[in-house]
Amino acid sequence: MDLFRLLIGMVLSSAIGLAGYRAEALSLSGVLGAILTGTVIFGFGGWSWGLLLIAFFVSSSLLSRYREAEKETLAEKFAKGHRRDLGQALANGGWGAILALAYAFGGGGRLLWAAFTGAMAAVTADTWATEVGVLSPQRPRLITTGQPVPVGTSGAVSRLGTLAALSGSLFIGLTMLLFQIAGSALGNRPGLWNDVFIVPAGVVGGLVGTVVDSLLGATVQAVYYCDRCQKETEQKVHRCGRRTHRLRGWRWLNNDVVNFLSAVAGSGAALLVGLLGWG
Ligand SMILES: [Zn+2]
Repeated sequence: MDLFRLLIGMVLSSAIGLAGYRAEALSLSGVLGAILTGTVIFGFGGWSWGLLLIAFFVSSSLLSRYREAEKETLAEKFAKGHRRDLGQALANGGWGAILALAYAFGGGGRLLWAAFTGAMAAVTADTWATEVGVLSPQRPRLITTGQPVPVGTSGAVSRLGTLAALSGSLFIGLTMLLFQIAGSALGNRPGLWNDVFIVPAGVVGGLVGTVVDSLLGATVQAVYYCDRCQKETEQKVHRCGRRTHRLRGWRWLNNDVVNFLSAVAGSGAALLVGLLGWG
């Protein structure tokens, strides 16, 4: 174990976490989550792993700001602000942190590198799809039945959202390849040509993660209902202050758990692509 790298990881993720807090992208508990996941991913995965987490965080925070006022009126999901809390931070970075530990203590290996990229692609794709898809000119449809549903409904998909998910996945795959090329140029290790497989691994991981996210959202994710506003919501207490009651879905399967599971699915898909590419 490299204590020095762990320390650098902690300093770097603390700096990013505090910057995120000042930019109103993270709550205080979210800062803690960023430091936890950032330190582990950076310390045990390495430079490229830590930088990929930052690429996810910065790009998603910037997209949150894109046409912000418009999105607040379109879907209530966006009205609670953009500060991500501990649960959201662990949902997005938790599985990546576990993979980093496996990478360090299980002897490393390319397949875990692909799996990590797939996990990051899945959470990036989901975030980009949510932030951009809400602006879709067409009404979104439920992934399971194809029925048109209100904007912001769990499990709703649109052409624009799918395009955003694809872009996010590609962004993560290409960014990881770039970091790898930079690392190789610094003399880390040879065998560059094979590394190109990380791009399709990221794209497939991101898309599979998004589909799993939407399927869970449309079927078993907990959905609540506010009697006062007569609206469906993902919150146990509605933004109007009233306690909601569960309409459908499993109580423990909230949005954070869904995001975590889609990261797991994305990493599995990316690992399979890595197996195909690298044998
Ligand atoms: Zn309400």
